Amino acid sequence: MIELNVKKLLSEANFNPFGEKVTVVAAVKLQDVQSINKAIAAGITDIGDNHVQEFKSKYDFIEGNPRRHFIGHLQTNKIKYLLGRTDLYHSVDRLNLAEELSLRGQNAGITSEILLQVNIGDETSKSGFSYGEILSAYEKIAVLPSVKIKGLMAMLPFTDDEHLLKKLAVKMRKLYDRLKDCDKNIEYLSMGMSGDWKLCVQYGSNMIRVGTSIFGERNYNN
Ligand SMILES: *Cc1c(COP(=O)(O)O)cnc(C)c1O
Repeated sequence: MIELNVKKLLSEANFNPFGEKVTVVAAVKLQDVQSINKAIAAGITDIGDNHVQEFKSKYDFIEGNPRRHFIGHLQTNKIKYLLGRTDLYHSVDRLNLAEELSLRGQNAGITSEILLQVNIGDETSKSGFSYGEILSAYEKIAVLPSVKIKGLMAMLPFTDDEHLLKKLAVKMRKLYDRLKDCDKNIEYLSMGMSGDWKLCVQYGSNMIRVGTSIFGERNYNN
């Protein structure tokens, strides 16, 4: 099943209408090592973790050397477990996290690639910079020595309101284009999950984080 799901997903999420290749990041939270390795064998090149503890315990058992993403909320005291083992941090949602990543990276001689998380739906349940804050956050973080901003990440609200989803996705793409115009390192707009990735790609996302459509419904009981 996983193999089929991966093949289907990779063939559908190919290029966005901007002509950019869409990177599929498998969201592996609560999945066992065997399932993750099956997805990689089927063609998944990038995997994303939410929980540091899970990341650590599975790290040595993942086969095929995929690119590693961290997509969950990150506490600064856990950075040490990820540093040097994470290719892209999606959820940099506050200045202090970027500062701490830079400081610890500087001490270790490691530059971390990051995305700034935008709370595009202004939801109290989600973290991230507000739309209005993002440019000033960008300016403060861009000057830190050991982090490199590669783009933006957003999670759209859980709603069937296609009109709202479209509006927010377009708003994210415009913000992304604005940054991209003045910073040549900007290359990722990480937006889209199992329920909404098609819409997100249609309006300009080039990186999607997909769990359920690959692995099936998550079992929160283990
Ligand atoms: C779990 C998770 C996903 C994937 O969610 P699905 O709906 O299972 O595709 C994507 N992004 C983040 C940040 C997640 O925590």
